[in-house]
Amino acid sequence: MSIIRKVKAVERVFAHLEIETKALSASTGMRCLTGCGRCCMKPDIEASPLEFLPLAFSWFIEGKAEEKLNELTSNSSGICLVFQPVHLSDRSGSCGDYAYRGLICRLFGYATSRDKNGARKLVTCNLIKTEQPEAYQAAVDKISNNEKIPSFINYYQKLSQIDFRLANQMMPINAAIREALHEVMKHYSYRRLPRKRKAS
Ligand code: SF4
Repeated sequence: MSIIRKVKAVERVFAHLEIETKALSASTGMRCLTGCGRCCMKPDIEASPLEFLPLAFSWFIEGKAEEKLNELTSNSSGICLVFQPVHLSDRSGSCGDYAYRGLICRLFGYATSRDKNGARKLVTCNLIKTEQPEAYQAAVDKISNNEKIPSFINYYQKLSQIDFRLANQMMPINAAIREALHEVMKHYSYRRLPRKRKAS
């Protein structure tokens, strides 16, 4: 499968997830605090190269691939390169490429995983739990009522069906972004360059 087709397939998965997380947010009132970015400041978030293929491809066609690769190589902080802190003091900030954020970024806060006993648990942040207790409880009740809420396993399986190798190598987020860039640059090292994408 070509890089472009993989990128489009990943974006279809993201678009489907967006519908589900928006529905959960609308039905519970649960939402990220404006300008928060706390979850992005966790060092070495685990991610797969495939979920960052759309980001790597967009940088490539904008001619930023080499520059970003150098930044990634020299970045030793472990915090996502894309994150743009506003005030380091109160740990706020935002994603520098929100439209191209990874699957982990879209799932965290609004999806379930299974605990050691196999029970579904909402994976969300302490801020939502403490500052939006009713909304959080509404989401927990949906899980108890077996209502459909996005799950980590289900969405990473969808990525596996696009490219098993790139979807199953979990690594620190900046390494995943770098691998995605390498994949795109290698692909076009001996193929015709893609045309710029029409603005969506
Ligand atoms: S890609 Fe964006 S949303 Fe994801 S961790 Fe980095 S800054 Fe945060």
